[in-house]
Amino acid sequence: MSAKSMDELVSLCKRRGFIFQSSEIYGGLQGVYDFGPLGVELKNNLKNAWWKSMVYERDDVEGLDASILTNRLVLNYSGHEDTFTDPMVDCKSCGERFRADQIPDYCKEEDLTEPRQFNLMFKTNIGPVDDGENFGYLRPETAQQIFTNFKNVIDSTSRTLPFGIAQIGKAFRNEITPRNFIFRVREFEQMELEYFVNPGTDENWHENWVELRLAWWEQQGVPKERIRLLNIEGEDLAHYSKKTVDLMYEFPHGEEELEGIANRTDFDLGSHSKNQDQLNIQSKIRKNSDSNSKLAIQDKDSNEWIVPFVIEPSAGVERGVLAILNEAYKVEKLEDGKERIVLALKPHLSPIKAAVIPLKKNNEDLVTLAKNVKDELQSLGKGRVLLENTGNIGKSYRKHDEVGTPMCITIDFDSLEKDTVTIRDRDSMDQKTIQIQDITTYFSNFFK
Ligand code: ATP
Repeated sequence: MSAKSMDELVSLCKRRGFIFQSSEIYGGLQGVYDFGPLGVELKNNLKNAWWKSMVYERDDVEGLDASILTNRLVLNYSGHEDTFTDPMVDCKSCGERFRADQIPDYCKEEDLTEPRQFNLMFKTNIGPVDDGENFGYLRPETAQQIFTNFKNVIDSTSRTLPFGIAQIGKAFRNEITPRNFIFRVREFEQMELEYFVNPGTDENWHENWVELRLAWWEQQGVPKERIRLLNIEGEDLAHYSKKTVDLMYEFPHGEEELEGIANRTDFDLGSHSKNQDQLNIQSKIRKNSDSNSKLAIQDKDSNEWIVPFVIEPSAGVERGVLAILNEAYKVEKLEDGKERIVLALKPHLSPIKAAVIPLKKNNEDLVTLAKNVKDELQSLGKGRVLLENTGNIGKSYRKHDEVGTPMCITIDFDSLEKDTVTIRDRDSMDQKTIQIQDITTYFSNFFK
């Protein structure tokens, strides 16, 4: 089951502190959102899950955290200055601007202007002199700085093909019509891997990565059956791409792209490299007279210089959060006829791993014991554990169901007398009593 509408998710996110409109007290800023106390945990957990699977659990990927501010030459040679555009039309009747493929039904054909190309990059002045010359860009994708650091990474790690460089970070696009909550925003985060392979092995690697990414999304609670693979064709295929498969997910507002997996060929390394004519570059690239680095790798056996092909799985953190919330959102009928909202998040993604709830908020013995249990569980490093000292068990359970906390641990008078605690499971709502001394083992096993 998933949410019935985007409104349900937006409302939960605001009510429980996942996501707020940015600059809200001044009327907001369009296409920009802030992640609140629980949103920041969910987002970090998702990014950690990606990093763990991409970098730590593989033996062929290195990490990178490059700058957001980008030298304009990077985005010139990458092609972004010329081609990172969307067609924009104006509606003379309502006075609004739209992306040409996103015109609402209420605009009539005869009121629309011819599409004009609009560059989506945010340009910003760099340094104290604002003469129109000293500018750079906020990166529109994290990928480019991976390419510009290619030689730094191979020289410092002695990698051979195939290997990858992974990066998570902010990207900025001046979207013509940001909309659908956090689906299409102007400031967002990407989780990108550039995986460098020998030309000729690229098609196999591309297929391989599509499978790996589907399996990963499944582990995050977005099952394979909920994702449709879309092979991008014709003029929709980016100029640098030999093949792109988009993972299409049924968001509350409709089916759209969650992640794209592109075969970027040798276009990027080839475009940013010096001495291009001495390299066997297959893509159509512009002559580079500014780069001081040969972005190629020497084959250990043949000594030949190879410009690797690149397979790029590129996922948006916000779109991931939205899909995961949508999948996890459930309204359940209870035996007493009432309903409960529950976020059935995978435990590793839950913003709060456990809530420790003293039965009475004014009883010092109960509260002290609860605090000790909280501190002990917190020290295990599995994520946030919360002392929920409201004195209202029913209300606390409801709240923690809604935010996806997998377990609630109640400290009551038996805890003081018999050293026991009650653990309530989010999904089954079953309660069981265990000895306090067993709680760390129970907790650690649960979040293994
Ligand atoms: P779309 O066609 O929806 O505009 P795109 O094809 O331009 O997306 P890519 O350039 O492939 O997107 O970017 C890779 C990923 O970054 C996307 O799959 C998406 O998850 C995320 N992303 C791109 N643009 C945005 C945005 N404006 N807001 C949130 N996430 C985005």
